[in-house]
Amino acid sequence: MPSVSPLPSLAPLALPWPPPARSRPIVPVFLPFRGCATRCIFCAQDIQTGRSPQEAGPDGILDKAGAALELRAAHGLPPAELAFYGGTFTALPAAEREACLEFVATALARGRIAGFRCSTRPDCLDESILSRLRQAGCTVVELGVQSFADTALRAARRGYDGATALRACALVRASGLRLGVQLLPGMPGVSPEVFLADVARALDAGADMLRFYPCLVLAGTGLARLWRAGDYAPWDMESTLDSLAQGWLLARAAHRPVIRMGLAPEASLAGAILAGPAHPALGARVMGRALLTAVRSLAAREAGGRLAERLEAPRACQGYFWGHAKELRPAWAELGLGPGNVRYAEDDALRLWLRP
Ligand code: SF4
Repeated sequence: MPSVSPLPSLAPLALPWPPPARSRPIVPVFLPFRGCATRCIFCAQDIQTGRSPQEAGPDGILDKAGAALELRAAHGLPPAELAFYGGTFTALPAAEREACLEFVATALARGRIAGFRCSTRPDCLDESILSRLRQAGCTVVELGVQSFADTALRAARRGYDGATALRACALVRASGLRLGVQLLPGMPGVSPEVFLADVARALDAGADMLRFYPCLVLAGTGLARLWRAGDYAPWDMESTLDSLAQGWLLARAAHRPVIRMGLAPEASLAGAILAGPAHPALGARVMGRALLTAVRSLAAREAGGRLAERLEAPRACQGYFWGHAKELRPAWAELGLGPGNVRYAEDDALRLWLRP
């Protein structure tokens, strides 16, 4: 029988795979466009969240959130984390923001939540508001940075530059809050190279977590008009999957999770997507690519052209290992791996054995 040389562990994949699950369930409170001074060209928060701005007065929304929290408690579920999404929380009119923070105070006092997070723009922050948020029980501020590249920010008419985005990251970190950075691969001006540089910059800026939202052309947006005029083309699916896989691996190497890839599949979203790399299993497809990319680069570096004898992967990979509709099978076969020599183990390590 030929000898088999085991690689003890894949160095770039020494952490648990996939990242640990989020510890606390999130109850979202969508405030579409609230606090937004402009409509960004790619954004359709009403469609993305399934809530129209007209019905988005904070009172009704907070009532619904309160009912959801009470229902959780009635079912004996543990305190959740509240999340204010869909607008620019730090730029809400003061009375609305305070209404939200009073709601938070009550929910905290009743033990219904353990804290809250919010999303906002990088140019709508200062020390005093961050201090107020922290004192009110905020734990995470998610910044809709989209890109740190000045050219891309100009092309997307975001209204701030990369230096402002970096300053905002530093402000959040300095305030003692955890930092989330949302990136928009495929936004006008964002190539795969720009996106990977954005991931690296976000990690350097101290992001505790990332979100990747590949840019889609949604009905009723400025981007839809550019797309119809032939002035914008979204990324294709292959570029998107490969780029997000590389971005995911960069985040993994820095021990930071990517907590979302792709927009949540709201019923109202499907009919509004005019173009762009949308797929209901986008995150799983990216994870499959990331795994393949990591093993492939390890094999190229360590194997000297030898094929794999067998591979052990954590059971958690089982759902996406071969890709959506087994799309990754041919690529795994090029490495010498197929259903006959891949097995799943209960621990978190990937192990690759090479043919002599
Ligand atoms: S991207 Fe953010 S700031 Fe721009 S319109 Fe949408 S929610 Fe408002």
